[in-house]
Amino acid sequence: MISVVVPLYNEEANVKELYRRLKTALDKSAIRHEILFVDDGSQDNTLGELKSILAADTDVRVVKLSRNFGHQPAISAGLENAGGDAVVVMDGDLQDPPEVIPLLVEKWKEGNQVAYARRKSRKEGLFKRAGYTFFYRLLRWMGNIKIPADSGDFCIMDRKIVNILNTGMTEQLKFIRGLRAYAGFRQVAVDYERDVRASGKAKYTPRKLISLAIDGLLDFSVFPLRIATFTGLFISAASFLTGLFFILHRILDFKVLGHSPTDTPGLASLAVGIFFLGGLILLMLGIIGEYIGRLYFEVKKRPSFIIEEILSQKNNATQNTQN
Ligand code: UDP
Ligand code: MG
Repeated sequence: MISVVVPLYNEEANVKELYRRLKTALDKSAIRHEILFVDDGSQDNTLGELKSILAADTDVRVVKLSRNFGHQPAISAGLENAGGDAVVVMDGDLQDPPEVIPLLVEKWKEGNQVAYARRKSRKEGLFKRAGYTFFYRLLRWMGNIKIPADSGDFCIMDRKIVNILNTGMTEQLKFIRGLRAYAGFRQVAVDYERDVRASGKAKYTPRKLISLAIDGLLDFSVFPLRIATFTGLFISAASFLTGLFFILHRILDFKVLGHSPTDTPGLASLAVGIFFLGGLILLMLGIIGEYIGRLYFEVKKRPSFIIEEILSQKNNATQNTQN
């Protein structure tokens, strides 16, 4: 049995069409399935739409979160409630075409624990595309593990991987596509054309997207901390040599600069040096702060999502008999 996990935040205009295409794709390949819609605290009629779908389909469950927790936590909520032997994760705005799912299932059946969808092209603006390309290259270079370029969360994962994500990776800030790669086993790519969002605006504002990117980078790398070490080493070595030069200059009085260093005004170079170093120190403090902030959140161990209720026909039936 396959579970399909779909996080939804204010997707009222997409839900029906998504369900229709998803169901067609799953039925066509005769895959036994359940669909888990995670309502991530939508303020529009997403839940209403989900309830009407639910009423007509026993394979559908709705995990309703108590407020908006964000894309990654919503996926985690779905993964923790999925019962399938494999779990498909996909976005709810039809950017991840449901027609790709049978291909993913095929790869899983061939014995791969993960089959992730890799986009051949993006239909977004040049600026956003460049940003994505830069980010995935940077992540590959900086991270200690190889997160495949141009793949998002759209994938199928074997029960083994899902269990590892649910219980083996206890961090609060989960960067799913990274942890999935971290888990290892046999992972293959399936190429597809990524569509444009069917309706509504992207829920990832540029700010949220940048924050996801920083989360991803810092989650898998301490390289930024090393920058401080290396820069520090470099600057100390350079100042040591400069100091040595000045001392020798004083003792031997060689006229390299044409005059003695002691009667050099040098205010400008001093000021620049101080500001440069000050800026560098602040930057490094900021980077250290980013990691400490993450430690702070991890230590508190707050749940990264809270489930208000899980809706399904079965639940409704029991509720009705109790009434
Ligand atoms: N989403 C969510 N919670 C959020 C933001 C987004 O569950 O706080 C869902 C959204 O409904 C969609 C998916 O996550 O199904 C991807 O979001 P979006 O399309 O905005 O991201 P993008 O495609 O721009 O990366
Ligand atoms: Mg989208």
